[in-house]
Amino acid sequence: MRFVCAFALLVNVVSAPVSRGFDIIFNYDFDTNNFFGTAGSAQRTALEQAGAFYESIIGDDLDAIDPTQDTSTWQAIFKDPTATTNDVSVTDLVVPADTIFIYVGSEDRGAGNLGLGAPGGFSATPGSQAFYDALTTRGESGITFGTPGDDTDFAPWGGMMSFNEHSSVNWTYDTGSEPGPGEVDFYSVALHEIAHVLGFGTAESFERLVSGSDFIGANAQAENGDNPVPLVAENHVDPSVMSTVFGTATSQQSLMVADLTDGTRNLLTDLDAAMLEDTGWEVIPEPGSAMLLLGGLSMLLFRRGRRQVA
Ligand SMILES: [Zn+2]
Repeated sequence: MRFVCAFALLVNVVSAPVSRGFDIIFNYDFDTNNFFGTAGSAQRTALEQAGAFYESIIGDDLDAIDPTQDTSTWQAIFKDPTATTNDVSVTDLVVPADTIFIYVGSEDRGAGNLGLGAPGGFSATPGSQAFYDALTTRGESGITFGTPGDDTDFAPWGGMMSFNEHSSVNWTYDTGSEPGPGEVDFYSVALHEIAHVLGFGTAESFERLVSGSDFIGANAQAENGDNPVPLVAENHVDPSVMSTVFGTATSQQSLMVADLTDGTRNLLTDLDAAMLEDTGWEVIPEPGSAMLLLGGLSMLLFRRGRRQVA
């Protein structure tokens, strides 16, 4: 009996990533160009793995958004993943506790661009204070809906991501090995865009910490040698700033630089995690699973072309 217990424990240790209770549900209803194929496709599998990474490191408890409990009605509003100049909406979405929804799809974004990610907005007719609070704060303190500039936390219902289907982008969905020369690593771009949905560069609680062209969050500065973190266009991290891949000692620039070099995999770094913490997320280190996910990667650079990740 002792042996069986020990074996079960061992299995537990090597299974990764371990969910903390945080759940990202990807929704394909607006994937009208069928970029993601059907259940079990390589595209969906890579996307789910990117989501699972965040599920394994985020420890926030989020209240459910449930309009069925009273007379509340609401619309989740977001950019159409297949036509990002348009907004679309979903009425009376039920968002379980600790869960966010991300609507995904693709569009032709032209050569040189890889994707777009953003949190969603909403309109609502709340039937109760409880529903209003759940929708606007999800039970997190530090969010005062309607008072601009003072939020210290971020707790959206979710958002959207759109990936570039332009023929010039040679996507690879293989998460088990480093992308080859000229290949664009979908997993890296998915990790990047999910961070935007989580408010990186997009949330009021992030913007509050942008001073000039620097990010001045306390966790980020501590991670950057007690220095402000220089930003470039649209709140991306200056590529000259180096950090280490989360859960490892591997040196890497931020996942949230504006460009991804072909043939390169970029993973979340300690600096990115610190900036998410400054945005209000509770990030829980889990070196065991991170190591397993990163096993066998070498960081070879193939500088054939740089592409923008919006
Ligand atoms: Zn970006």
